[in-house]
Amino acid sequence: MLKNIFNLFYPEICICCNKNLVKTEKHICSDCLVGLPYTQHHKNLDNDLIKIFWGRTIIQSACSLFYYRKGGVVQKILRGIKYQDNKDVSTYLGRYFATILKDTVKEKQIDAVAAIPLHKSRIRKRGYNQSELIAQGMAEVLQIESCSMNLKRVIATKTQTQKGRIDRLDNVSNIFSVSNSNVLKSKHILLVDDVITTGATIESCANEILKIEGCKVSIASLAFAKN
Ligand SMILES: [Zn+2]
Repeated sequence: MLKNIFNLFYPEICICCNKNLVKTEKHICSDCLVGLPYTQHHKNLDNDLIKIFWGRTIIQSACSLFYYRKGGVVQKILRGIKYQDNKDVSTYLGRYFATILKDTVKEKQIDAVAAIPLHKSRIRKRGYNQSELIAQGMAEVLQIESCSMNLKRVIATKTQTQKGRIDRLDNVSNIFSVSNSNVLKSKHILLVDDVITTGATIESCANEILKIEGCKVSIASLAFAKN
C-alpha cells in the first residue's frame, strides 16, 4: 500500500524511454519492449553467437536475448542494472529471458544455471553480481537449480573494454575455479552473463566447468556485442 501511494506521486518510469509506466507494465514500457533489438538466437541454434566459440571450446548451445550496440538502448539497460542499484530489473530480465528460452532449455536437457562470478572485490564495491540475479530469475521460471555459488572468480581482472583481443584472452585464462565439483558432475550447465563481446571470459569459465566429469556447457547472455 505504501508503495502504491509512493507510485501515485512518483510513478515508475520505463528504464529505456523514461515514460511513465502503466499498471500492467514493469521496468520497460510495452512500446520499448517490442522495439528492442532481439537476436532470435533461440530460433536458430547455429547462430552468430555460437559461431564465435567454434574451434575454441565445446559449447552445446548459445543464445543472447538482445544485440548490444554502443550508444543503443540495450547499453542503457545494462548500465542500469550494473550501476543504479537496480536489483529488481536484473531478476525481471532473467525471468523474461527464461520464458523465451524455455523450449530450448528443455530440448537441450539443461540441468542448472550458473552465473559468471565476479571477484569478491568487485562485489564489495557494487554490492551484488547482476549476472547472478539474472540467473536467479531464469532458474525461477525454468524451475531448475542455480549453482552460481559453486563458481569462484579467483583473480580480479581489469575491465575488458580497453584491451585488444589477444590481451583479453591472456587477461582471463585461469581466473575461475570450481569450489565443489561433485555438485556439478554430469550436469548440463547454462552459463549466464550480462553481455558477451569477445566471449573470452565465458570461454575461460566454460573450460573450468568442462574439466568436471560428464559436464556440458550452454551459454545465455542478455546481450551480444557483435563485431
Ligand atoms: Zn519505454
